[in-house]
Amino acid sequence: MTVSGRPRQADAGTGLVDRYGRVATDLRVSLTDRCNLRCAYCMPAEGLDWLPKPELLTDDEIVRLAGIGVTMLGIREIRFTGGEPLLRRGLAGIIGAVTALEPRPKTMLTTNAIGLERMARQLAESGLDRINISLDTLRPERFSQITRRHRLDDVLAGVHAANAAGLRPVKINTVLLRDVNDDEAPELLDFAVEHGLELRFIEQMPLDAQHAWRRENMVSSEEILAALSKRFTLTPDPAERGGAPAETWLVDGGPAKVGVIASVTRPFCGACDRTRLTADGQIRNCLFARTENDLRTPLRSGASDAEIAELWRTAMWGKLPGHGINDPTFLQPERPMSAIGG
Ligand code: SAM
Ligand code: SF4
Repeated sequence: MTVSGRPRQADAGTGLVDRYGRVATDLRVSLTDRCNLRCAYCMPAEGLDWLPKPELLTDDEIVRLAGIGVTMLGIREIRFTGGEPLLRRGLAGIIGAVTALEPRPKTMLTTNAIGLERMARQLAESGLDRINISLDTLRPERFSQITRRHRLDDVLAGVHAANAAGLRPVKINTVLLRDVNDDEAPELLDFAVEHGLELRFIEQMPLDAQHAWRRENMVSSEEILAALSKRFTLTPDPAERGGAPAETWLVDGGPAKVGVIASVTRPFCGACDRTRLTADGQIRNCLFARTENDLRTPLRSGASDAEIAELWRTAMWGKLPGHGINDPTFLQPERPMSAIGG
């Protein structure tokens, strides 16, 4: 540490420290940029190019990088995401290999749940600890409007299969869109409470491939809480928040909870503990970063684990203090959410 208490990079030692003193222990791995839905706030209806296959990390490469993260850099949690991670054939094998690491990291999955009905048990048996399922509406016609696919039944079957496989509490991620599903918050919370699911609303962020995000169309955390409070009594959750992005409330005295991830109106960058690996082997120190650090090339050129760990540390050291969405000079990252890994 320096006299001022701020770390120097040389002090980073084994962990993923940045110049503001934050330590990344939570790794998000994007397994693919492809998806079988086309959610309006994420992807265009058509015309998005996929990453070329040779550029994608293989299962073994992902497991090696996860191993470096866990054994040399202090990673304690690994979330698999995408694109749609269930489209990755080797998913169960990757989870199995990662949960065999020492010390065993917690493993999580963020998914749209299409195909989960078939896979939930196998994933739980492979060592998956927790799951987040994206579900923005319970109405079939709205689901088709938002995702541009008629798959609501598959998603609901996936939710129930995850519960039955013991991946509890299943968390549900919901994005509300103005004049599309913004009247459905209480209905979704009723559904979640009834089925023992933990619902979390996410403010829409400027990460869509079409660059169509407009602040005035974003349904804010304040609006969401006001809508829920008409039907439910919400009291602040006494549980420690830590680096968790969701602020949570007890619903009607608990034990049911509801969360809001107010990334835009109440940014939590100061407590961020994340590092991200894209499907093509780039480290991103923030969802909104405009630069990436390549690990794939050194990985394929024979770099040692220690050399890769050092490159990863350097990537994280450069993390900015905040995402800057609320600054007039904010520029959206070039890659959309589906290619970064949400
Ligand atoms: N396909 C999987 C899914 O939908 O859960 C994983 C990837 S998706 C990019 C991860 C999460 O990001 C989802 O919960 C989705 O709702 C959320 N998301 C996507 N685009 C978003 C945006 N522009 N603003 C806020 N959340 C977004
Ligand atoms: Fe696919 Fe998830 Fe993006 Fe929807 S939010 S298009 S399910 S990657």
